[in-house]
Amino acid sequence: MIEFKKVSKVYPNGTVGLNNIDLRIEPGEFVVIVGLSGAGKSTMLRSINRLHEISSGEILVDGQSITAARGRELRVMRRGIGMIFQSFNLVKRSSVLRNVLAGRVGYHSTIRTMLGLFPKRDMDLAFGALGRVNMLEKAYQRADQLSGGQQQRVSIARALAQEAKIILADEPVASLDPLTTRQVMDDLQRINRELGITTVVNLHFIDLAREYATRIIGVRAGEIVFDGTAEQATDEA
Ligand code: ADP
Ligand code: ADP
Repeated sequence: MIEFKKVSKVYPNGTVGLNNIDLRIEPGEFVVIVGLSGAGKSTMLRSINRLHEISSGEILVDGQSITAARGRELRVMRRGIGMIFQSFNLVKRSSVLRNVLAGRVGYHSTIRTMLGLFPKRDMDLAFGALGRVNMLEKAYQRADQLSGGQQQRVSIARALAQEAKIILADEPVASLDPLTTRQVMDDLQRINRELGITTVVNLHFIDLAREYATRIIGVRAGEIVFDGTAEQATDEA
């Protein structure tokens, strides 16, 4: 569960990113946030796992305030949240497997991580995750040798290896062609259905949102202007 309680985000230059948002997302939902560029979609996602600090209000994840969390508590909460970006954010010169294992880093001491030593359980999780996105056969390839869609599936695998309960995807298909877009959205949908992972995806295409979302949230100028099912979004269009 993700809950926004009167959340506002004002950037240092005075731009209002979010204006007094109240929102509840239940476990297992597949929510798509739609809105034009600059509407506040990315600000919303980044607020959830505290990639930036909100200016006021509070955000709860699984009933626990991530806004108030500190130190180890915050790290543990973040571990449960996988983040997927438009630009994939993989280590280009590393293998696919290494990139997926990066999802395990938060579970270990720094020294283990620096040495690149991962226990068998991590390897199992990494290979299991690669299997779920049909990328097992690419495990030893360099990330930068993959197509954009394949790279995005690796970043989904990284979130799975992380044992995330929530996946936040910020414009995950914005730099992909239509066919690849579908493959990545299908992967996200299948993972949501099979594993019950709460999924929040930012998109700027309403058609794609209607096709995949169980719930669509429309954002404009930092406010929620629509919140309903895909069918309702169609009726109103
Ligand atoms: P979206 O993801 O819907 O395109 P954003 O959340 O990125 O929108 O942006 C919402 C508003 O906040 C926009 O007006 C944008 O220009 C502004 N904004 C985003 N990031 C920053 C930043 N780091 N500093 C100042 N303003 C920002
Ligand atoms: P090698 O044993 O020759 O390094 P592998 O095929 O076992 O090759 O592994 C390929 C990639 O996965 C390499 O980057 C390797 O360092 C990494 N890797 C393999 N096993 C582990 C492990 N237990 N922990 C961390 N990384 C591993």
